[in-house]
Amino acid sequence: MNIVLLGPPGSGKGTQAKRIAEKKRIAPLATGEMLRAEVLSASALGLSVKGIIERGDLVPDAIMIAMIEKRIGDNPSGFILDGFPRDLAQAEALDTMLAARGQKLDRVVLLKIGEEALVDRISGRFTCRGCGASYHDRYQRPRVEGVCDLCGGKDFERRPDDNAPVVRARFAVYRRQTEPIVGYYEKRGILSRVDGTGAVEEVAEAIDRVLG
Ligand SMILES: [Zn+2]
Repeated sequence: MNIVLLGPPGSGKGTQAKRIAEKKRIAPLATGEMLRAEVLSASALGLSVKGIIERGDLVPDAIMIAMIEKRIGDNPSGFILDGFPRDLAQAEALDTMLAARGQKLDRVVLLKIGEEALVDRISGRFTCRGCGASYHDRYQRPRVEGVCDLCGGKDFERRPDDNAPVVRARFAVYRRQTEPIVGYYEKRGILSRVDGTGAVEEVAEAIDRVLG
């Protein structure tokens, strides 16, 4: 089964993609992780993207497409893509590479979560510096105020980009790039929309229902 998972940054896509991959016994292909792995292994591809990533630039389409194509070839039993395609050109390139192998996409799942829900979810996040446990101002406060449930630590941190203006800016980019892809897959009749606002387990169940 070949699946694409779409959703805004912070929608919990990565977590869901890993879970689906295990359940369906298909390869989780997350572009961020793939790029980091290429850089770490100092492959030819890794060396060519290292500087680009370090400068904070977007990796060119041709490189992303080559990387995806290699992984798809390595995983004939199927995959779930997270982070690709990012725009219409990449969506078309994916179709072309699959068609060349006599394959196709079976399902595209769109995790739907509104801008306000996303801001609410992300901007309240903080983690324990001692053990990395995750908390949230409203949804998951420590049982004892200011003390980590797991390690008893009292030192917490917030990521500087977990704030409302950054979340809104990322969401705007996502929406501009993704809307054309959504239309593209919808016309083909392979798009399923899933409510991404609930708890991880609820979202997981909704995804399982559309994947069958
Ligand atoms: Zn802790």
